[in-house]
Amino acid sequence: MHAHAPGERSSRLTPGRKAVLDILERAGRPIGAYEMIDLLAETVGRRPAPTQVYRALDFLVEQGLVHRLASRNAFLACGHGHEASEPVAFLICDGCGHVDEATSPALTADVADVADKKGFAPRAQIIEIAGRCAACITKEVA
Ligand SMILES: [Zn+2]
Ligand SMILES: [Zn+2]
Repeated sequence: MHAHAPGERSSRLTPGRKAVLDILERAGRPIGAYEMIDLLAETVGRRPAPTQVYRALDFLVEQGLVHRLASRNAFLACGHGHEASEPVAFLICDGCGHVDEATSPALTADVADVADKKGFAPRAQIIEIAGRCAACITKEVA
């Protein structure tokens, strides 16, 4: 199974879902549902119903186009075009709020191993790592 190109997947989206994905991709940072409603209102010119926005976000998460950051209660466009089921680690900076998405074959293998040993079938495999990003560490040292 190979990852799909982002364009290939987003072409199947309804205009409402596409608008949500576009905003997340352009922002390049995590966005909460309420901020998303504000941004959609600016872009589309009318306020969408919150349930509509939640449904669009859920759909995008299911498709693996967007990830949900539980610790921030926010959503982030996927930067990698990997399979929806693949484990990902988020490096979340406490200083500037920057979020970096990382995957690795070793991580994928180890997370699968941890679940297998318990006979567990993972639905979502998101690891959230809090701390300081390289830019913030550099600033602190300088
Ligand atoms: Zn991703
Ligand atoms: Zn930072």
